[in-house]
Amino acid sequence: MPLTLDPELRRALAARIRYYNEMGIYDFYRRPPSDREGAVPISVDEEEIAVSTNQPESGEEMGPRKAAAVAIQGDENIFDLIALKPEQSVSDPVKALKIIREDLGDCTRCVLHKQGRKQIVFGVGNPAAELMFVGEGPGADEDEKGEPFVGRAGQLLNNMIKAMGIEREQVYIANIVKCRPPGNRTPEREECATCSPFLMRQIAVIKPKVIVALGAVAAKTLLAMNASMMQLRGRFYDFRPAGVRVNDWSNDPRWDGCKLAVTYHPAFLLRDPRQKGEAWKDLQMVMKELGMKAPGKNAH
Ligand code: SF4
Repeated sequence: MPLTLDPELRRALAARIRYYNEMGIYDFYRRPPSDREGAVPISVDEEEIAVSTNQPESGEEMGPRKAAAVAIQGDENIFDLIALKPEQSVSDPVKALKIIREDLGDCTRCVLHKQGRKQIVFGVGNPAAELMFVGEGPGADEDEKGEPFVGRAGQLLNNMIKAMGIEREQVYIANIVKCRPPGNRTPEREECATCSPFLMRQIAVIKPKVIVALGAVAAKTLLAMNASMMQLRGRFYDFRPAGVRVNDWSNDPRWDGCKLAVTYHPAFLLRDPRQKGEAWKDLQMVMKELGMKAPGKNAH
């Protein structure tokens, strides 16, 4: 007979699972019934939901990440609970993004919260955009205004978007980290890993057709690979937001991830304008993928 979990217990389990997600643990597996023989009745004791860094037991399906083993008695499908994100039940992307923003709160999850940030820079633009740009992190202007790409690099990005024949308001723009690294230093790998799950959730809500990663930090974090810009540019990658069970909760069976292209960060292009032609080639590739007509002029 199915076991119905007490609502308090469900809430406690959901909170624990969210905690694991924030630690970077997303994939869970269920022990086969033979392993559950003798399992003590479900409770929220530490031992009941155990994080395991061991290899999967034979016959278990696991993702490449660390897995958490959940010892459960009864037939309650706790994995429906695990798949749930707060925004999952919301079809309106504006509301869903608001939920993610609220979940982020006055975030103190990484050290960037105490290194001089004025505010969190969440992201801006069309919540149902076909095209999304992802940069590295906010600079001084972005930190001041609470919006990504509003300084000189932002002006250049606007020009690049215009050169594609569209307006900034038609795309969605975000960064890997949402707080300004001090002195505009490159965000540390750990900071990217801590912050990017929120970006992944934003991507899964927006469901773009193409993401353009601006610069090496964005590209390496989104693609989880280490390569030079020369190696990363000039092709599309199949992208699905890490840690998000897209098919479970996208409410759109047609969206099963998107294409991702890599180009130079506008701040780099300001330092080395000779590379603008190369960046334009990348954007032309994106326009072709999206069926956009080139207005026939370059970004300035
Ligand atoms: S960078 Fe991201 S994870 Fe770090 S404090 Fe800011 S919002 Fe939180």
